[in-house]
Amino acid sequence: MKNVKAAVCIKCGAEYAAGDDTYTCKKCGGVLEIVYDYNYIKSQLSREKLAARKNFSIWRYLELLPLEEGSRPGPLRVGWSPLYKTDSLGETIGLKNLYIKDDGLNPTSSLKDRASAIAVARAFHAGKDTVACSSTGNAASSLAGGAAAAGLKSVIFVPERAPQGKVTQLLIFGATVISVRGNYRETFRLSAEAIEKYGWYNRNAAINPYLSEGKKTVSLEIAEQLGFKAPDFVALSVGDGCTIAGVWKGFKDLYAVGLIDRLPRLISVQASGCCPVNRAIEQNAPIEWMDENTLADSIAVGAPRNGEKALAAIRESNGITINVTDEEILAAMRLLGKSAGVFGEPAGAAGTAGIVKAAALKTVPADAVVVSIVTGNGLKDVVSAQKAAGIDSTAEGASNLLRIAPDMKLLTEEFAKRGIC
Ligand SMILES: *Cc1c(COP(=O)(O)O)cnc(C)c1O
Ligand SMILES: [Zn+2]
Repeated sequence: MKNVKAAVCIKCGAEYAAGDDTYTCKKCGGVLEIVYDYNYIKSQLSREKLAARKNFSIWRYLELLPLEEGSRPGPLRVGWSPLYKTDSLGETIGLKNLYIKDDGLNPTSSLKDRASAIAVARAFHAGKDTVACSSTGNAASSLAGGAAAAGLKSVIFVPERAPQGKVTQLLIFGATVISVRGNYRETFRLSAEAIEKYGWYNRNAAINPYLSEGKKTVSLEIAEQLGFKAPDFVALSVGDGCTIAGVWKGFKDLYAVGLIDRLPRLISVQASGCCPVNRAIEQNAPIEWMDENTLADSIAVGAPRNGEKALAAIRESNGITINVTDEEILAAMRLLGKSAGVFGEPAGAAGTAGIVKAAALKTVPADAVVVSIVTGNGLKDVVSAQKAAGIDSTAEGASNLLRIAPDMKLLTEEFAKRGIC
């Protein structure tokens, strides 16, 4: 890879040649980060060159991605999700320049597709015929979908209690699903042993430094969609921490090659019931594990496996932490849907919930350029969406739902009563 210099340990600075046998530091066990040859990339890339490209996917940024020469990107169209200027939503919240980046529009409906696309391309190049990971959620479905499209097999380890909807998505993509009678930690350990024994490509996000390189493409797109300008703030939800680290890496890379001239501040949004990363920032202390009390399952991560990278990203960006309750997340789901036409899963709408709070507290000024990344689609988790809409078993019914007999007279009366027409 002409554009990649090395894989560097974020803890002790040890340098390794980039390659698939080096995932963690052999000296201290730290997580590695991919470092590029920015001078070389500068000579290859310009705003004009990028703007002229017709490839509207993550692969338009090839010079900034760790792809071996001769690699074949998978066939799914990943990335180049829309960035909407949402004036009506912004007005409701009190922000003049609010944008929503809808990453639920990726092929398997979450931002994780960006990381899995890199995993699949690298696995293919390494001559692997099988990719594997352990996850209950979007990492697994994106890997299974990407592998299916590229003609690779996938093996996914899930804890027995994994939600049926998500397991179903895996089965439809033809993955071999190993449902482990045990908790997530035991599931992860079994997957690691099996990956080692059978030599599959390892997409376990915490130890594979290439995955946040895929996730960073969301920032490359945001900057380009804003005319090669960094926004003032970027808000997103945080679980393991790979995504926020990737988002930060994307802006830093663009800055290093001179495509943007300043960096945004990150807004790290976590659930009040599970916020180990934000708590560490707020108390300026190491991460301590927490219980996982939130309905936002994609960010219900009590023991973040990429916490160090996340902390570094938030601190370096002079970032802000915001914790939101499940109620606030459900309210943000309704608000996003109603005033922007965007349907996010709870972890997807959590970033927006954070923005609502930050704007109310005036932590974010009214005229700031703010991007909220919706990281996953609402249909991923219909049970939570029903809660947000007010039609779960505990609620009377949604205020915008009319149950009625097929009778025009009754309908007219109901409309009059509710002041609808
Ligand atoms: C994985 C995920 C996140 C959080 O990403 P991390 O890398 O775990 O911090 C947020 N939202 C959705 C929808 C996700 O799938
Ligand atoms: Zn190290």
